[in-house]
Parts: sequence; C-alpha cells; structure tokens
Amino acid sequence: SKPIVAIVGRPNVGKSTLFNYIGKKRVSIVEDTPGVTRDRIYMDAEWLGRQFTMIDTGGIEFETNDKILTAMRHQAQLAIDEADAILFMVDGKTGITSSDHEVAAVLRNTRKPVLLVANKIDTIKNVHETYEFYNLGLGEPIPISAANALNIGDMLDALVACL
Ligand code: GDP
Ligand code: MG
Repeated sequence: SKPIVAIVGRPNVGKSTLFNYIGKKRVSIVEDTPGVTRDRIYMDAEWLGRQFTMIDTGGIEFETNDKILTAMRHQAQLAIDEADAILFMVDGKTGITSSDHEVAAVLRNTRKPVLLVANKIDTIKNVHETYEFYNLGLGEPIPISAANALNIGDMLDALVACL
C-alpha cells in the first residue's frame, strides 16, 4: 500500500493550507482560529509519479494551552506510530515556540524520516528567518509558503526522496 505522510505542528502554522494545496481539494477546514480542523483527514497525493497518503493531524481539540500541549504530544506520537514519514511544520514568521521544542523532542525519538518545514516564508527576503529552526535538532529547515505556493516543489522532492 501507499506510504503515509503525516503533517504535524502546532495550530495555525498552515498545515491544512499545505494539505489542501497538495491534494488540490479543499477537504480540511482552514480558519484563522487556531485548532479548528475537526478531525484527522486522509488524502491521496502524488508527486513525480510517487503516490502517498497524507494525514492532516490537526484535528485534536485545543481549548486551553495545557490541552494544546497534551494534544500536540499526542499528535506527534500518533504520526510516529502511523506514518512512514513526518512533515513537521513550524511558523517561519513567529519563530520557535516552546511547543515547537516539545514536539521536536518527541520527533527526535523516531528513526522515521522527519522533514522540518518552515511555512509562511512569503518572500525570499525572509528565508534567513528559518535558520533559528536548526535549534530544533531536526536538520535543515525547508522554507515554504503554503499560501503562496513557494518552494513546495523542492519540499515535495525532499519528501518523496525519503519515502
Ligand atoms: P493549521 O491550523 O496548521 O491547519 O493552519 P491553517 O492551514 O488553518 O492556516 C492558519 C492561518 O495561516 C490561515 O489564516 C492561513 O491562511 C494562514 N497561512 C497558511 N499558510 C500561510 C503562508 O504561507 N503564509 C501566510 N502569510 N499565511 C499562511
Ligand atoms: Mg488545520
């Protein structure tokens, strides 16, 4: 069967935006309110003839900050258990947060490939803002803009290379 790719990351970083762009179908809900994606959604995707299934893991309810953290750890663990590769998305505009560190700590414990993707890099001028994400210990951050479809091809090249 097809390899599974899970998108993990804190609310509002742009997971569903990327998911919808790659799938070319608006199936998960994108909102400005953090954490509105209701459930895990699976979608078939393809890049350069390589087929895979993507999971948008944003669907665990977030209410208090406390719950966000619990939900994110759960989300990351779920991805580790279920996926063949993990796409860990961070917000290139806001920079590293403590929950990014928490999730990174969970993801560093798997041998499955983890791709660190810094979203919201809407212009090349902002690429330098992604360097601080090296501190997450997950390798080189790949700058993208899911909303403006920037560098998605390079990111998908890197993704299918590790499937
Ligand atoms: P999720 O909670 O991680 O699934 O995030 P969403 O995909 O729902 O996006 C959260 C917000 O970020 C929405 O308002 C999106 O329009 C916005 N967003 C997503 N990608 C980008 C991007 O590349 N650049 C900018 N500036 N905003 C983005
Ligand atoms: Mg979402």
